[in-house]
Amino acid sequence: MQPDGSKPLPLSRQINQLAEQCVKCGLCLPHCPTYQADLTENESPRGRIALLQALANGQLDAGPKLREHIDHCLLCRRCERVCPSGVQYGRLFDLGQQLLEQDRRPTRAARLGLALVTRPRWLRRLGRFIVLAQRSGLTGLARRLGLGRLSPWLRRGLTLPPLPWPRPFAPRYPAYGTRRGQVALFTGCISAAADHTTLNDTLEVLRHLGYEVLIPPAQQCCGALHAHSGQHDRADALAAQNRGTFAEPVEAVIATATGCAIQLQDSQLTPPVADAVSFIAGQPWPDTLQLRGGKETVAVHEPCSARNVLRNSDDSYLLLQRIPGLTVIPLADNATCCGAAGSYLLRHPAFADQLRQRKLDGIVQQQPDRVVTTNIGCALHLQSGLIAQHDRRSVMHPLTLLREYIERTP
Ligand code: SF4
Ligand code: SF4
Repeated sequence: MQPDGSKPLPLSRQINQLAEQCVKCGLCLPHCPTYQADLTENESPRGRIALLQALANGQLDAGPKLREHIDHCLLCRRCERVCPSGVQYGRLFDLGQQLLEQDRRPTRAARLGLALVTRPRWLRRLGRFIVLAQRSGLTGLARRLGLGRLSPWLRRGLTLPPLPWPRPFAPRYPAYGTRRGQVALFTGCISAAADHTTLNDTLEVLRHLGYEVLIPPAQQCCGALHAHSGQHDRADALAAQNRGTFAEPVEAVIATATGCAIQLQDSQLTPPVADAVSFIAGQPWPDTLQLRGGKETVAVHEPCSARNVLRNSDDSYLLLQRIPGLTVIPLADNATCCGAAGSYLLRHPAFADQLRQRKLDGIVQQQPDRVVTTNIGCALHLQSGLIAQHDRRSVMHPLTLLREYIERTP
């Protein structure tokens, strides 16, 4: 049942309706990273649309080859951005996954991952375990012993940048100075465990701007990972829980990770959902909030979710231009995915690393002092790549950088 009470069309009909919008022009092909790498039709957006349509019509079975081509898709949605016919590739892909999942049990690793993201307490425990392992030198030792070769999950875990200690938030934080309004902060699942810094910095910037910030403790994962894995019932259940949790009349529900902002916008919450950078970039700046001058160069990595879906990449530049003297440049090849792509980096580590290397080469060439990005997945992926090549530059959220430049923090 839809949130408005109407009954959805059968899956195959929905897929067909969306796929029929593709006029097979092929304009998306040169923009698709998997097609660029492989140059075969089935690894292109047009090919995947045709495969899913054939599956929906019963002309093809859900065999391993078909699954492989669909599974190789990064869901970067660059094809959607360049498509002249307005094909909703992201929606089509999610429906296709739903169809594919009807007769497949997810792998144990996928089940564990999806279960973990809906259990904030487990995630916080895991986050604390990782922090303790990092601080005690255990991860360094395991890396040197080559234990990362045992599994892609372990390899990613061992190359994570140093994480902050994850702490639960209070349900309400008052504004600093004159109160301008009230917003709610979405803390997410992975972000709450691995990106406490960004959440805390966003909270502080909002308070400086005069916002009282609510952080409902009962909030749930946005459900993006479930939706992209074909588990729509679970994604819908999480959306329903979040609709109940974010029921207080606030100006906006603020999400710090672009991927979560997209999924929450689809969840039909009562208050509007806003990406943190866009919301803050659009606020009148109080005279009392002074920013120090900066002399560094900052490169902006634009996540696919910001560039191709929210289409709000410009807001990161707009926001950072508030810092006097800062040089803000786009990271080279921003149109191409960095390879993080949700759980893609765990499922296809070799291709994820290949795509990341292009970004790392760009960083070496452009020589920024720091890199900023609005997606936690991209940030962790890029940061671990920099660490692996002994590059001391840090990758952070634009609001963490902005907060650093605030003159006086109470
Ligand atoms: S998805 Fe769009 S750009 Fe790609 S082949 Fe179809 S109509 Fe053309
Ligand atoms: S979403 Fe990205 S990887 Fe997938 S078909 Fe489109 S351009 Fe290619």
